Amino acid sequence: MNKTLIFTKCFQCTPGFALIVLISLVTGQSVALANVTQAQYEESKKTEVWEPVPVKVEAKPGEAPSDAIILFDGNGLDAWEDKDGNDVKWESTPYAMTVVPGTDYIYSKQSFCDVQMHIEWRATREEEKTGQNKANSGVFLQSRYEIQVLDSYDNKTYPNGQAASVYKQYIPLVNATRPAEEWQSYDIIYTAPRFEGEKLIKPAYLTLLHNGVLVHNNVELKGQTEWIGEPKYYPHGCLPIKLQDHGSANSFRNIWVREI
Ligand code: MG
Repeated sequence: MNKTLIFTKCFQCTPGFALIVLISLVTGQSVALANVTQAQYEESKKTEVWEPVPVKVEAKPGEAPSDAIILFDGNGLDAWEDKDGNDVKWESTPYAMTVVPGTDYIYSKQSFCDVQMHIEWRATREEEKTGQNKANSGVFLQSRYEIQVLDSYDNKTYPNGQAASVYKQYIPLVNATRPAEEWQSYDIIYTAPRFEGEKLIKPAYLTLLHNGVLVHNNVELKGQTEWIGEPKYYPHGCLPIKLQDHGSANSFRNIWVREI
């Protein structure tokens, strides 16, 4: 709508509304005035919410958001420990951290509840292995709920145990796995379960994007990951993130978490 038309439409409006129009024209701010009465404009103001103002977060391309907790960015394994609180024995380079088979799981020193998490992983090439043995690892939220890591590019196994499955609970919606030795990503939105004493009040929920592709949409977790038997919940508070040593020299990088 051009300025002349706005003025023409506003010719008979109240002085207050005319002032608003004038300010909008002087400041260059766009105000949709076509066929809008002052009463409508005043009504529209009633549903504007001005508080709280979101905190600014820098989100530069290819970098962790400015408010993220960095768990690995190539500067060593200080954010991790073994189950006894000792230094971890996985390999660390400026480019990746890598499972040293036989050195056991590692745990973030910090505990978490609800999180947004980003982690990149690379399946080692294991031509001789098949099924669940082919470049297996895992990302355990709260040390208990596993998102499977596996070379599932061309590797038959039970689908509720393939890469990006919630292990033995949910089959991924699609298989977005890349070939071995290519970097892949998981972007996780996780809501921790709630307990009152021994009682489960609300289960955990998980959304997962594998290489940017949605594979779980707010699924309700059935309990702690189990290899044998049905999953069950056991009460707990905030807990570390756990990464699995399943005997394959898989690598991880660019691991960060935002508490939500
Ligand atoms: Mg695993």
